[in-house]
Amino acid sequence: MHSLSYDRALDVGQALALVRQPGARFIGGGTNLLDLARSGVERPLRLVDVSRLPLSAIVELPDGGVRIGATATNTAAANHPLVRTRYRALSEALLEGASTQLRNMATVGGNLLQRTRCHYFTDPGFASCNKRAPGSGCAARDGFNRIHAILGASEACVATHPSDMAVALCAFDAVVRLQGANGERSVPLCGFHRLPGDTPEIDTVIAPDELVTAIDLPPLPCAAGSHYLKLRDRASYAFALVSVAAALDLRGGVVHDVRLALGGVAHKPWRARDAEDALRGQALAGARPLRHNGFKVELARRAVVRALRVTGGLT
Ligand SMILES: Cc1cc2nc3c(=O)[nH]c(=O)nc-3n(C[C@H](O)[C@H](O)[C@H](O)COP(=O)(O)OP(=O)(O)OC[C@H]3O[C@@H](n4cnc5c(N)ncnc54)[C@H](O)[C@@H]3O)c2cc1C
Repeated sequence: MHSLSYDRALDVGQALALVRQPGARFIGGGTNLLDLARSGVERPLRLVDVSRLPLSAIVELPDGGVRIGATATNTAAANHPLVRTRYRALSEALLEGASTQLRNMATVGGNLLQRTRCHYFTDPGFASCNKRAPGSGCAARDGFNRIHAILGASEACVATHPSDMAVALCAFDAVVRLQGANGERSVPLCGFHRLPGDTPEIDTVIAPDELVTAIDLPPLPCAAGSHYLKLRDRASYAFALVSVAAALDLRGGVVHDVRLALGGVAHKPWRARDAEDALRGQALAGARPLRHNGFKVELARRAVVRALRVTGGLT
């Protein structure tokens, strides 16, 4: 790995000043950025450690929602009583991600900004990857694309977004709180990650010098009994082929509220609003499978039904 300088920021103002230096990057737990720097996919020159900023609190908001600080670890967020009891699918999604050791290191802010697990992106031995080297092509489109996107992909990129946590957050209409040189702003989680279009090298709408400070969850009664279903090749340790975050408010046979978001199928968490409206069968209407991943269409359909059955207490 190339040489790097390292600074630990003690407050938000210092972090924002340090990250404006050339080649500087925030680092949380380092479980994604350092891996990618080691393999030469990312080339940060300066690391600004934000993991000790006083942003790790998980608290109830005045409206009954919950704020999760960006430097809370994945373990802390998954196990916090406010998350476990009010947003069960979020706790489940976090616990289905990575390993205990990784979750103890990984931060909520870093989890949101982790990069795709497309093999053609993570291995610089492959020359063609528009996400890693814009303009070089997409080796996955005609390569081995079993894990790739079936919704919202472009000619330039068929990578999927890897975060389990973000899928549940999207289902619950969470909001990402950001702080930059020009002040604070909030971005809906479902609009935080981008579809690839012609610029797949840009994963999200965050500016390079903006800090994720927290994630706000609105009060959502049906999230208490929600469910996260993750389907993958190895139950012990793997990214999702398809996942579903589902919440259902079913009373007297009437659907009062329903939330559905899919993971492993697109460049961003995929909120299945059509399926929420129709509550059946429409979630994969726009699917465009590749040569090796046609099975994901049926897998995703079945996953939606299974997740809804669990959250609706029908199994
Ligand atoms: C073997 C393995 C298996 C895994 N399996 C899964 C899985 O199944 N599901 C899943 O969801 N994840 C999985 N992960 C990914 C893991 O969840 C992420 O690596 C982790 O969440 C990233 O958090 P971090 O704090 O370590 O991020 P870092 O590596 O520190 O940072 C990641 C990115 O976020 C940026 N960043 C960090 N904090 C902030 C902030 N506050 N504001 C702005 N930018 C910031 C960094 O600059 C960097 O670009 C796995 C990882 C490994 C290594």
